[in-house]
Amino acid sequence: MLVKLGRKDIERIRQAGFIDDYFVDEKNMMPCLKRINGYCIFLDIKEGKAHCRIYPFRPRRCAGYPGKDTCDLIRHYVVNSRNDV
Ligand code: SF4
Repeated sequence: MLVKLGRKDIERIRQAGFIDDYFVDEKNMMPCLKRINGYCIFLDIKEGKAHCRIYPFRPRRCAGYPGKDTCDLIRHYVVNSRNDV
């Protein structure tokens, strides 16, 4: 799943202190979050649990999961990597 970024998403993440080259990838002329080995660049693993490093600044699409501090990508990571963490 690609996380597409709107102009306001990019501005919000900049406020968190990240420069565009760090997190913006261009797919089919559409800015989206960069991924490393298939996982979001902001995905962080601490003590075996997945966290979003920019949670208060996360893109609107990620914020579509109200009341949760995880997203589909994070759940995907935990489910598929439980034995590796
Ligand atoms: S909520 Fe998930 S996909 Fe969105 S920025 Fe955070 S780690 Fe990345």
